[in-house]
Amino acid sequence: MTIKCCFDKVDHYNKYSVGGGVFLQCSRVATRDGFCFQHHPDAVAKRKEEQQERRRRRNRREAFLARCRAAELAAKFPGA
Ligand SMILES: [Zn+2]
Repeated sequence: MTIKCCFDKVDHYNKYSVGGGVFLQCSRVATRDGFCFQHHPDAVAKRKEEQQERRRRRNRREAFLARCRAAELAAKFPGA
């Protein structure tokens, strides 16, 4: 008998089931500690970290572009 990933039964129930519906149900086979490879707490934490890093990088890029635009405007309209 195969064990299914128990992702939909853990804390995500509260996070994603607004209005009573369970939106995230995982039907993958559990490979580690009752979770599939994608929903193991370690994997989830790693993904979250990567997401935050991407966000940080994007914020830096946007700040840089904003400075570029400001410098461009200042060059175009001196004294404005
Ligand atoms: Zn899963």
